[in-house]
Amino acid sequence: GDAWTGMPGSITERSFFAIKPDGLQRGLVGEVMSRFERKGWKLVGLKMLTPGRQLVERHYEEHADKDFFEKLLDYMCSGPVVAMVWEGHNVIAGGRKLLGATNPLEAGAGTIRGDLCTNAGRNLVHASDGPESARREIELWFSREETVQWGRATDP
Ligand code: UDP
Repeated sequence: GDAWTGMPGSITERSFFAIKPDGLQRGLVGEVMSRFERKGWKLVGLKMLTPGRQLVERHYEEHADKDFFEKLLDYMCSGPVVAMVWEGHNVIAGGRKLLGATNPLEAGAGTIRGDLCTNAGRNLVHASDGPESARREIELWFSREETVQWGRATDP
């Protein structure tokens, strides 16, 4: 890890998140980002783009053989997404907790998916599922220059 992808296990741990097209269609960008801010993590990368098929294929390469893969690509490329890097204590595992289970039916109340959606195929937000995928996904979606290092008075 380095300043770009963060140091897993430290307070500079970083993870990749994306608000998927349904989040923008439903006007939930502020709601989702607000939950990350309130948790205490620091926003260190932010951009909006309609991803191309190639980018999404690489992002979800582990699912290439799944029956939902083509539908997943169509969904992810259907409109703009908000791609983000958040930094802070346990942001990788904690980010997954904040999202809740992949299937919103199994996501607990209080989680983003548990509170805000009903369908695994339209589950609002992506979060890296471990240190290796966090690193890989940050490098895939953001260049080094596109992430920001900045300090808050409360960090120390
Ligand atoms: N997905 C789907 N149907 C399924 C399983 C997954 O449409 O039965 C989609 C869903 O958008 C999910 C993404 O594929 O978020 C990636 O699946 P994964 O198991 O990695 O879930 P996640 O890490 O997003 O919780």
